[in-house]
Formats: sequence, structure tokens, C-alpha cells
Amino acid sequence: MMNTKIVTIKGQGDVFSETEEQTLREAGEILRGGGLVAFPTETVYGLGGDALNPASARKIYAAKGRPSDNPLIVHIARLEDMEDVAGQVPEAARRLGRAFWPGPLTMVLPRAEKVPKETTGGLETVAVRMPSHPVARRLIACGGGYIAAPSANLSGRPSPTSARYVIEDMAGRIDMIIDGGDGEIGLESTIVDLTVDPPQILRPGYITREMLSQVLGEVSLDQTILTADSGQAPRAPGMKYRHYAPRGEMTIVSGQVAEVVGYINAQAARERAQGHKVGVIGTDESLPEYQADLVCSLGSRQDEESIARHLYGILRRFDDEQVTRIYSECFDTMGLGQAIMNRLLKAAGHRVVTPVGNRERQSPDI
Ligand code: AMP
Ligand code: MG
Repeated sequence: MMNTKIVTIKGQGDVFSETEEQTLREAGEILRGGGLVAFPTETVYGLGGDALNPASARKIYAAKGRPSDNPLIVHIARLEDMEDVAGQVPEAARRLGRAFWPGPLTMVLPRAEKVPKETTGGLETVAVRMPSHPVARRLIACGGGYIAAPSANLSGRPSPTSARYVIEDMAGRIDMIIDGGDGEIGLESTIVDLTVDPPQILRPGYITREMLSQVLGEVSLDQTILTADSGQAPRAPGMKYRHYAPRGEMTIVSGQVAEVVGYINAQAARERAQGHKVGVIGTDESLPEYQADLVCSLGSRQDEESIARHLYGILRRFDDEQVTRIYSECFDTMGLGQAIMNRLLKAAGHRVVTPVGNRERQSPDI
């Protein structure tokens, strides 16, 4: 166990107090010295280390308990630094950078020599992102400009959307945790691969396929994103791990709201009688209808941003309360819904049922 320093940096936009600025410089020194610092971003908390130092990458894998063939995203603070970590930058990447950076978009590009294979999980490509969170940007600058950072959770747990979850998973394992409040978006960045033509989305996120298409024209989608088994390996190595899994067994229930509610209540009654603790992930509209041990709302069905922001926190809460069975409502897969359903399907190990009348149909794909 190491001693983990926990600090809070609120800032005012991108203006920091004297003490906060001092703390950020101290955090930057830790990173430059090969240490690890967890920090807030607009998506989820990141676990940062110097992206150009192979020893830092190895420490990140050890702290997370993550397989070292799962590459890390390199975070930068200036658009032009993309040219430094990528061996070759296609014009499409510059256009995307101008349109969406700083922001929740990660681009996969050919790797430059200076980025060690430890950071890229042995790949000849590198994933690059410029976050918009002011604390993240200042920290990256203080830490030398190139910070490798996966999500700051233990491998197998939901990504942390709040500092208290980072503390739960990482206290005693890293040098410093910066509490900068709750993530605005709550789901990891969109990953788009620009080494293929047309560019391909490897992980859906806040920046949707529609938004990318407006800048790039045709954009394809890795077929493994929303299907249970396409017979293909996902192209983002990390997507093959079942890494958004809650501890309870989770099922997504699709169909008309009334049927969904009826089905979940019947299942919950049956399983509670068997001694299970049952949790339900619903929405503001349906919440009063459910009877279970723990019923949580993601927000209004009309408000996809709220749904995205609350999902991981609810999954963690179910773990904390030792829920053994989880039922979730299903969502449309347009726009941000694509990212929401991708994460839900992974959490559920692709278990989806559609009640029809009082029977049910297994539906492996959405
Ligand atoms: P996380 O940092 O926890 O959001 O995970 C990083 C994600 O980016 C994982 O799913 C990785 O597999 C993916 N990734 C990172 N680098 C690459 C790359 N060079 N090519 C494809 N996927 C990548
Ligand atoms: Mg992760």
C-alpha cells in the first residue's frame, strides 16, 4: 500500500487559485517523475501517467489490474501536439480536431516512434485525445504534455464518474487523486479509427456517428458495438473485455413500457421470494411503477444526457448494496443512445429479453 494524497481542485472555469495552481504543479512533478495521478475529465476520471515513459505505462496496468495488451489513450493539451505523437496525421484528423477538440473524442492514428509500445499495448497505432476539462488540461501541461490515461477504475468495475469512486478503487495504489467534481458526460470518449477508410467508430460516445459524418462524410461502425456475437473480434482491444460489469446478474428488458414494467415486477417478485436482492434501472416516467429492493432512475427518458451521466453511478450503487439481480429498461440506439445501449449491453453481458404477452423472447441483438 502506498500513501495516496487526495486533493480537491474546483477552479473557476480555467482560473485556479494560487494554492490550486501549486497543487497542479506538484501533480505535474509526480507525473514527470514517473508517478500516477488520477484526475477529472469531462467524460470519466482518468488514471494518468507519463505517456512517453514505459515504466509509467506498466504502473498504470498494475494499479488497474488491467491486461497490458489493452492500449492506453494519450491525452494532450494542445491541438498541435497530435502531430508529435502520431507518425502521420491525415487531413481528416485535423478537421476532427478543429471541430471537436477539446472534447470527448479519441482518434486512433499511426504511432510515432517516441510513444513506447508499453503505452500502445504493443500496437503500431496510438489513440489520442484532447480533453476539455480545465483541470485535465492544466495537469497535462504541468505533467509534460503527454499523459497516458485509461479510466481510473479497477479493471472489471464501471468507470468512475465521481472522485469517491476513484478513492474506492485507487486509494493506496497511486500517488495522488484530484477531486474535481462529477463528470459532466459520464461515459467514456468516442473512439474513431482514422487509419482505415472510411474512418470507423470503435467505441460510441457523446460525439455521435451523425456528428462525425457531418465533418467526414461516410463513417462506419465496428459491427461488434451493438451485437452479441458478430463472429468478429472488436477492433478496440479494450472492447473485448467485459469491463462494465456490475456484480449482480443483469438483464435488459425491451418492449413497450407497460409490458416491461409488468415483466420486471413479476421477475422481481419471484426472485425476491428466492432470496435475491433485486435492483431496477428505470426512468423518471416509470419509476413509481416498480416494486423491487432498490429502484433507481437514470433521469427522464427524454433526456439522454442525464441517462448517460447517471448510468455508471447506479451500477456502482447496486454493487455497494450487494444487489444480486438487476433489470434495466432499454433505450433507442440513435444519437447518444448508441453509446448508452453499448455500455448497458456490455454490463448485461448482452442478456436482453423482450416480453410478449406473458411469454418472453430472447433477443441476442439490438
Ligand atoms: P479507457 O482508457 O479505459 O477508456 O480505455 C481505452 C480504450 O481505448 C480501450 O478500449 C482501448 O482498447 C482503446 N484503444 C486505445 N488505443 C487504441 C488503439 N491504438 N487502437 C484501438 N483502440 C485503442
Ligand atoms: Mg476503462
